[in-house]
Amino acid sequence: MTEGRRRCTGAPGHRWGTDSLAKLRAGRAALLGGLIGVSGALAAVLANDIVCLAMTPVLIEGCIRRRLNPLPCLLGLACAANVAPARPPGVSIDRGSTRERRAGDDPDPSRRGGVVVGMDGLWAYDGTLTCYTHRMGTRAYAVTSDSSPFGAHSITRREPTATDVAIEILYCGVCHSDLHIARNEWGMTQYPCVPGHEILGRVANVGSDVTKFKVGDIAAVGCLVDSCRTCSSCEQGMEQFCLNGPTMTYNSEDRHLGGLTYGGYSEAVVVDEAFTLKVPDNLDPAGASPLLCAGITTYSPLRKWNVGHGQKVGIVGLGGLGHMGVKFAAAFGAHTVLFTTSPSKVEDGKRLGANEVIISNDEQQMNQHAGSFDFILDTVSADHDINAYMAMLKLDGTLVLVGAPPNPLQLSAFSMLFPRKHLSGSLIGGLPETQEMLDYCGRHNIVCDIERIKMQQIDEAYERMLRSDVKYRFVIDMASLKE
Ligand SMILES: [Zn+2]
Ligand SMILES: [Zn+2]
Repeated sequence: MTEGRRRCTGAPGHRWGTDSLAKLRAGRAALLGGLIGVSGALAAVLANDIVCLAMTPVLIEGCIRRRLNPLPCLLGLACAANVAPARPPGVSIDRGSTRERRAGDDPDPSRRGGVVVGMDGLWAYDGTLTCYTHRMGTRAYAVTSDSSPFGAHSITRREPTATDVAIEILYCGVCHSDLHIARNEWGMTQYPCVPGHEILGRVANVGSDVTKFKVGDIAAVGCLVDSCRTCSSCEQGMEQFCLNGPTMTYNSEDRHLGGLTYGGYSEAVVVDEAFTLKVPDNLDPAGASPLLCAGITTYSPLRKWNVGHGQKVGIVGLGGLGHMGVKFAAAFGAHTVLFTTSPSKVEDGKRLGANEVIISNDEQQMNQHAGSFDFILDTVSADHDINAYMAMLKLDGTLVLVGAPPNPLQLSAFSMLFPRKHLSGSLIGGLPETQEMLDYCGRHNIVCDIERIKMQQIDEAYERMLRSDVKYRFVIDMASLKE
């Protein structure tokens, strides 16, 4: 310091004034403050460790009781022991943090023995004191209302049970249902909402009884994560029609943690192996992810109505679903015809496998094909005239709806009567059929045509999806979530 003073006073025209002295004092104070801060932080860490040390016997006992290795728990890496009886599996000791209950927390802690489910983890609730959090905080993107943009959130995934598979998500397709539910267009959304049911990733951990998967495998999860498994639908492998209500991948009641299920716009997911699918190694993983909804939604009705050689089959609409409908119908050997309103899609329709393309608002083209179709798959989810397509069917022809227009269909009875025709609907597929579809795609090297996006581009992707400005599915590269 004296060195500095000498240099200052020696400088021509410069005097060591009160201003410089004040600066010097401020510098010393800052240094002292810094030292106190660092020692304070060290003391806090030490105090935390002492708190943890005091909990060690409880932890070890809890681990031994549950025949778990206590080491990761003690090192603070992961929780193995469920030390307090009120806590569900996967909840570990938090280092003394507390917070008040907040909006968005689970409304009724008494239902789960005093455990509050919040976006930032699980909290033991005893009046105002909250003292446990979950170590498996998982990064995700969520909307918090029907008009809010997407933002980063932390969600809770359970510790894998004996039959669970923990998956690090690599890709998640963006389905039109995601948009409907994020914006509460079907009136049943609960917030915060993390959409995404076209999930593909790498197995990061498996429970002790898991036989289908090992760490490192590529695995997938579609629209369902659980069902009752005992009703007649479940017994026939049609879990999507579970009579007791299937657990959907997001915005459904979580049978394990309570609260809501959260979808694939996140870095990881934990799902029972019975609801986890194997993905053939030869398929491009990003292109394969939308098979989990767009793929099975079109594959299932084409199989159910035995579409194949010698049949004339129409696919209405060339979007996420329609482009897969064209690929499957062509692969099954049917004479495949695409109906579209956009002349710009003619070439693409043929590239994807259509033998013919009909511009559906050209009356002359429509009339030429009237009464000639065995089967039509209608993938359009906007309001449209169903009678125009019923007129395309021949005797005993069937039209199957897989899109969900917002308003009731205006169906003329004469569309059904002459000649006799059938109208039906179809919803995704059960677990056995979804696996069959993935295996079929593996053998025939079928994936979706996709456009990769970053998680941060999801709002923009929704707007483009509304304008049908996507060929033909957005897929989120989940590595972007870590940016
Ligand atoms: Zn979907
Ligand atoms: Zn069931």
